[in-house]
Amino acid sequence: GFNFEEVYGERGRDFIEIHHIKPLSSLKEAVAINPKTDLVPLCANCHRMIHRRKNEVLTVEQLKALTKKLYTELR
Ligand SMILES: [Zn+2]
Repeated sequence: GFNFEEVYGERGRDFIEIHHIKPLSSLKEAVAINPKTDLVPLCANCHRMIHRRKNEVLTVEQLKALTKKLYTELR
């Protein structure tokens, strides 16, 4: 939901990070990547939080649950 252009102007246009749902390091051999099912666009903050703990990479759903909890508590 984060729009880099809204915050950073022209410099942020078309900027997004791409997350591999299956970590590349878990793939033993070369496989074809399907962008629709294997990749997800994330803002840089959310991407960093998903990878914050090396041994516990969150799913997007887990990250959403965390942020919802935080926003609910801040209100
Ligand atoms: Zn990632």
